[in-house]
Amino acid sequence: MSSVSLENVSKRFLGGSLAVDDVSLTVNDREFLVLVGPSGCGKSTTLRLIAGLERCTGGTIRMGDRVVNDVTPKDRNLAMVFQNYALYPHMSVYNNLSFGLRLRFGGGIVNRGIRRLFKPGHAAELSKLRGGIDQQVRQTAERLGIEHLLNRKPHQLSGGERQRVALGRAIVRDPAAFLFDEPLSNLDAKLRQKMRGELKRLHREMQATMIYVTHDQVEAMTLGDRVAVMNGGKVLQIDSPLAIYNRPANLFVARFVGSVPINLQSGVLQLKGSVFQFQSDWLNIELESEFGPKPGVDLRSVVLGFRAEDVRLTDASPPPIRGTVAAIDRLGDMAHLHVSLTNDQTGQIADNPEDRHADNLNKLPRTTGMLVVRTTANVVVEVGQAVALAINPERILWFDAKTGKNISKD
Ligand code: ATP
Repeated sequence: MSSVSLENVSKRFLGGSLAVDDVSLTVNDREFLVLVGPSGCGKSTTLRLIAGLERCTGGTIRMGDRVVNDVTPKDRNLAMVFQNYALYPHMSVYNNLSFGLRLRFGGGIVNRGIRRLFKPGHAAELSKLRGGIDQQVRQTAERLGIEHLLNRKPHQLSGGERQRVALGRAIVRDPAAFLFDEPLSNLDAKLRQKMRGELKRLHREMQATMIYVTHDQVEAMTLGDRVAVMNGGKVLQIDSPLAIYNRPANLFVARFVGSVPINLQSGVLQLKGSVFQFQSDWLNIELESEFGPKPGVDLRSVVLGFRAEDVRLTDASPPPIRGTVAAIDRLGDMAHLHVSLTNDQTGQIADNPEDRHADNLNKLPRTTGMLVVRTTANVVVEVGQAVALAINPERILWFDAKTGKNISKD
């Protein structure tokens, strides 16, 4: 297996669109790195540059210590698995799995004949390798649990089985690294989850370098040893899934990850003695100064962030935060309460719709009076009920409202 590194890599397509903008990252040997980001952020182009299917217009791509900018895709020895499987429809599963190896170890009968005449030594070597193809194919099929499908054609397979064959075709080649471009997106949710587990297992067993592209943050967080979040052709953060979730580098990353959107409030902070006062249209809270942002930042325009699991219902009196339950999502193992905050000065209850979804990720958040609160499944509340809430101060994140940068203490 091999490490893969990109140094200041850019790709500008003819016509001017800058799909990849000065990306530097290293995928360590045997690492599972996921590139994730919204549609059009440049993740597939980055993968295609690594594969050699596109040429970069700037920067250097290395596999191990070798610069591969001018190396053809074939000679990079990478295996790529796509969303659409790309199986040969007229070939059996067995032949789909063995085709690449047969080409590599001698090609068709004419090529082999010519080689035997002019390069007999090489021909003998390849012939030995050809002899091992059957075993390689059967071992791979066994590893993926598709031995019983070897004689079928792709149209006789389910989506999950087809995807396994596509994986098998990549594995059987014993490549320097695997590249995956949204390989599971054609599968239903349950099968996707199962295949994610299988991919993780394969990664563990094969100790392979894997680079995986997805727009699905759940997939990214569950699969990756590390995750690179991209937007606008740039890598915004590259870190472990937990670090990305707990310490997002900026507002974009904070909003992109998480199965429910992070709660955000734009406002101002004032330090009064040892206490920070945070004020937004809908939220006035006091915090010990240790829970404030790092020193030296502009307190006049900050964004306070906290996740749904870091705010809870409380009986404290006076309540730290007052609101009214606007909606309840009961998910079986937990519930999400959507709470409209009450403006303490005016008594008004927030009714503005939420503006935190993926297509708005580039905008800084509007100040909104809605919060999401994760509770236990059996919480006894009703829509319209007044509730009091408390935020866990240790989990609060701070962002600069102008730049979006995380300004929390380290
Ligand atoms: P998706 O999840 O929708 O596949 P992506 O993050 O993989 O998106 P890319 O396919 O890498 O994004 O595209 C990045 C940008 O480059 C987009 O703006 C796209 O329109 C542009 N682009 C991609 N391929 C080409 C091309 N061959 N010619 C011109 N522009 C292109």
